[in-house]
Amino acid sequence: MFEVTDKDAMGRIGKLKTPHGVVETPALMPVINPNIDFIPPKELKRMGAEILITNSYIIYRTENLREKAEKIGVHALLDTDLPVMTDSGSYQLLMYGEIEVNNEEIVKFQEKIKSDIVVPLDIPTPPDADYSTALKDLEETIKREKEAVEIYSGEGLLALPIQGSTHWDLRKKSAEEAAKIGGDVYPIGGVVPLMDMYRFEDVARAVLSAKTKLPPDKPVHLFGAGHPMVFALFVALGCDLFDSAAYALFAKDDRYLTPYGTEKLSEMNYFPCSCPVCLEYTPEEMRRIEKSEREILLGKHNLYVSFEEIRRVKQAIKNNELFELVERRIRAHPYLIQAWRAIRDYYDLVEKYDPFAKKVFFYLGTESCLRPAVRRHQERVLRVKTDKKEIIISSDYSVKADFYLKPPFGVVPAELMESYPAGHAEIPEDLDEEAYKTAVRGLKMFLEKHKDKKVSLIIDEKWRKFLDDVQT
Ligand SMILES: [Zn+2]
Repeated sequence: MFEVTDKDAMGRIGKLKTPHGVVETPALMPVINPNIDFIPPKELKRMGAEILITNSYIIYRTENLREKAEKIGVHALLDTDLPVMTDSGSYQLLMYGEIEVNNEEIVKFQEKIKSDIVVPLDIPTPPDADYSTALKDLEETIKREKEAVEIYSGEGLLALPIQGSTHWDLRKKSAEEAAKIGGDVYPIGGVVPLMDMYRFEDVARAVLSAKTKLPPDKPVHLFGAGHPMVFALFVALGCDLFDSAAYALFAKDDRYLTPYGTEKLSEMNYFPCSCPVCLEYTPEEMRRIEKSEREILLGKHNLYVSFEEIRRVKQAIKNNELFELVERRIRAHPYLIQAWRAIRDYYDLVEKYDPFAKKVFFYLGTESCLRPAVRRHQERVLRVKTDKKEIIISSDYSVKADFYLKPPFGVVPAELMESYPAGHAEIPEDLDEEAYKTAVRGLKMFLEKHKDKKVSLIIDEKWRKFLDDVQT
């Protein structure tokens, strides 16, 4: 049902088969509220949508919609031939505390209206909930996921949400249990309040802890992350599906999305975008348009940039330049930088997914030191055999030496000076300390490994600063 064709970092391009067609992931699912006329699904498809998401609970509790959906199905109800994922009402449970449907009813209802991706009624525990509440909610979620697998007999895919609040061991437990129960898609739930508060690091840790236990061959949906600013980051952490209510919600609030943040229409003089909407109007003209029409125009722009960013992320995966894209994108907000640095604690996981062979290594800042290519290189160099009793290591490439020093990699055998990664790395001359420190860590491991040999270090002042405590 899910075939991965290209990989980079923990991200991938995949083909997800649903009863209403194949979706290429990473994919963004625009959220449709069946009670509100906004941008029609036909137009969403024209703008680049390959799959939509709507709320089965809203349809279920609205009598005329419910009757119609039961008769003609959710696709005809929305007037679309695209695959449609349906949410269960969990979000309403999180926001309003209670809803008028049980798990069995809503799963059976989604089956009846021929949803392509069905979600049981999981319990979204808010962030920072105390441990026992989060655990109790999670046990109920697991019970309902088991029930859903038993009662669902449709042709669609079954999504088993991952909960556990901000307790990372519970996120792991949730993923472990869901994987045992066996779903087709794994949504990471309960992150909307975190996204709203810009607590991207907590979202990253929720995703990473779940990924340690989720099967690598199944798609992961980051439920409620619809801002284009975060797509590169969360694709790189292994998320395949995103949903966007953001395009409409931000538009209603006269806010304009970009891949590097949100602008207020009231404060804009220029549109930094060339989508059909932004070519047609200036911000000044847009502000004079009547509210309901303006919302649709802003909503369209918000979607255009969102789909554009998804395509950019996919191209980065194809080029094996996703690390580079993420490192550029996280510069948009300090909390995004902080979120990405969480990969330090999950090195083995990232390493497991990230492909070995790439073309280039662009050093774009201290976070570049966290890429698996760096540590892999350092470990690989330790395995290089040499019979020499005396080794020459030089930071000056014009000197004849057995090994050279290159930040952030450390020791590079002369014969690998033209190979990926060290030989294909573009680094600035005036480099930050982190790159040198990372290289020195590699050098120290190398010296320890060859402590029986005589090592001559030919180093310049830049290196000397970091090498004071290294024996030569
Ligand atoms: Zn635009």
